Amino acid sequence: MVDIKKLVRENVLNLTPYSCARDEYTGTTGIFMDANENPYGNLNRYPDPYQKELKTAISKFKGITREKIFLGNGSDEVIDLCFRIFCSPGVDKALTFTPTYGMYEVSATINNIKVLNVPLNEMFQIDLQNVIPLFADRNLKLIFICSPNNPTGNSMNFSDVEYIIKNFSGIVVIDEAYIDFSDKASFLGLIDKYPNLVVMQTFSKAFGLAAVRVGIAFSDPDTIHFFNKLKPPYNISSINQKAALRKLDKIEEDNEQVDKIKEEKTRLSANLQKMRLTEKVYPSDANFLLVKVKNATYIYNTLVKKNIIVRNRSNVIDNCLRITVGKKSENDRLIKTLKTIEL
Ligand code: PMP
Repeated sequence: MVDIKKLVRENVLNLTPYSCARDEYTGTTGIFMDANENPYGNLNRYPDPYQKELKTAISKFKGITREKIFLGNGSDEVIDLCFRIFCSPGVDKALTFTPTYGMYEVSATINNIKVLNVPLNEMFQIDLQNVIPLFADRNLKLIFICSPNNPTGNSMNFSDVEYIIKNFSGIVVIDEAYIDFSDKASFLGLIDKYPNLVVMQTFSKAFGLAAVRVGIAFSDPDTIHFFNKLKPPYNISSINQKAALRKLDKIEEDNEQVDKIKEEKTRLSANLQKMRLTEKVYPSDANFLLVKVKNATYIYNTLVKKNIIVRNRSNVIDNCLRITVGKKSENDRLIKTLKTIEL
């Protein structure tokens, strides 16, 4: 079994974390003269640094205890913390399966961590043969797996992923930003079995709170401890904690939105498949479609001129557009406009 402490950077292991006023006194009532706040106003007090109320609500919703939950300023903060906890700059490495979410590599580069990019196969699945030999590299500390994957939309084969978690002696981060749009199983059920597993989810996609910036990491409490040790003291504002809490209170509305998005995805996909400019609509477990077209850059530019913005992913997958499923009226506008484009 992987010993997390052996994977953590030495300076992080030895770090005495900043202790803020709200670490020392955790009560919620009293005369607060400990944090140099302004005594007047509604937003004058620092927020709960460990977001206990929100974590309790997430814990109930997901059936996972609070000490296995870390909250970041978006998943992007969780990604950055993974590098800072586990990878020594200029020495350690991370691995991603490409094409995938670009922030893993950007965040690695910011932290001066080398990235091994292993291409997904033609089905956009992991080819275990290409990754197993790399397990021997003692400087390889982190493997990122995005499932459902951005921008390809598919989920990774469960047994391939579990093989990696089981056999890699570093940390495996599974990014499940799009899991709520998928009918496939989440990897969350494996966190008790594998202490080297971190599962990331977010309030930005199915929960409809991208503006709020709340990302979640689920992992073994020993790993969560290091996320808490490194994070800025008040990384989630009280306004944002409240917004996320309100969302969990009204989760039924959210389920309805997800159902609508999934229905619209099926309809949009069927329409796109019938178009002459379309070569292929890839199957998607997410809230977007990857579409191979005849001339992606021309179509992209034409859509922009008509005020419809999709993502041109041609630089990562030849002639591909990534189209986020919108409201019915928005999808109708896109379909109508695409039908007018002559190639
Ligand atoms: N992971 C993936 C796969 C994403 O596509 C995105 C955003 N597009 C993120 C994480 C970032 O999520 P957050 O808004 O929680 O930072």
